[in-house]
Amino acid sequence: MTTSPANSLRPTVSEITAPTTLVRRTEQLAGEAVARELDGVLVSASVSVRYLSGYTGSHGIVLLGSAPSQPWRFFTDFRYLTQAAEQVPERFERQIATNLFEAALRSLQELGSQGGRLGFEDEHVSVAQHAKLLEELPSGWELVPCTGMVEGLREIKDAGELARIRAAAELVDEVLGWQAERGLTGRSEREVALELEHEMRRRGATAPSFPSIVASGAQGALPHASPRDVTIVRGDLVTIDMGALLDGYCSDCTRTFATAEPDGQAREVYATVLDAQQQGLQAVLAGSSGRQVDAVARAVIADAGYGENFGHGLGHGVGLEIHEAPRLSPSAPQEPLRPGHVVTVEPGVYLPAVLGVRIEDLVVVGADGPERLSHFPKELTVVG
Ligand code: ZN
Ligand code: ZN
Repeated sequence: MTTSPANSLRPTVSEITAPTTLVRRTEQLAGEAVARELDGVLVSASVSVRYLSGYTGSHGIVLLGSAPSQPWRFFTDFRYLTQAAEQVPERFERQIATNLFEAALRSLQELGSQGGRLGFEDEHVSVAQHAKLLEELPSGWELVPCTGMVEGLREIKDAGELARIRAAAELVDEVLGWQAERGLTGRSEREVALELEHEMRRRGATAPSFPSIVASGAQGALPHASPRDVTIVRGDLVTIDMGALLDGYCSDCTRTFATAEPDGQAREVYATVLDAQQQGLQAVLAGSSGRQVDAVARAVIADAGYGENFGHGLGHGVGLEIHEAPRLSPSAPQEPLRPGHVVTVEPGVYLPAVLGVRIEDLVVVGADGPERLSHFPKELTVVG
């Protein structure tokens, strides 16, 4: 085994998904289209296109017929000719076009010369694109919104996806350990955020999966605080919320550190959030709804007298996107969690103008219980 020098860049990973996996996903989508009585589906959101075709570029769409014998088409422009040939399986007929929607609609007649029902991703098509689609739609065809269709498939992660998310979570564990050793006091929140993001990329991340949060002292009471040019001082609690994008998949983790022995109030709030987080984690079970899991953690915080200070949902799904289905919140759908769902568990208590504490782990719903993907310790750590 060879080891690389400590300061060298770790190589990035391949962005190729096995053709059999991509074909299986697209067959599943075609099956779903049949169930919705659609004759074809036009997929245009870049994460959906990636999920089905493997294409990781920024300009591609997919048109597929619902029946097994019908063609699947992938359209991109000249710039992505080589990339598409490497990434998109042969089951898709690849076409180069200037106007992708126009080219897709032109080939629609092959799916039904008399017309039919064409599903489209209504949540990801602009008003202008929709108007253009209607204008160019061949006669006899009807546009049908297929809200959440690809997102629904994406909820359940396969083994390859779990491996990628696990690796993205491990990378963040490593970076948190690295940062804890360096300490936090004497540098500004922005400097720390920049260091975290640089270190993530040095260790192989493509990018942060969202802009990192570093919030010290009273700023910690803002759940989505932007890092400031304010120096972290001894005695502050510091909330760090960060994630890595690795091989297309996101991770998400929050730890709240102390920069000196914390006072009684900080200790009490921290202990409450930790208890809520651990009980919430244990409640992430197949068959429970996101609403039920949220209620378990929320009750711990309410019983400690901080119910008014936890104003956001307990967690969200994570995958190709940092926020995706399912959600854990008081208003989440009643549908049960299923094995393969990946969610965060992130309760917080925010005392305005005083302090904030949030602790967040990434977890997979398993048939035999939850599998935690974030392993950085959660006991209150004094980092100096
Ligand atoms: Zn987070
Ligand atoms: Zn989160």
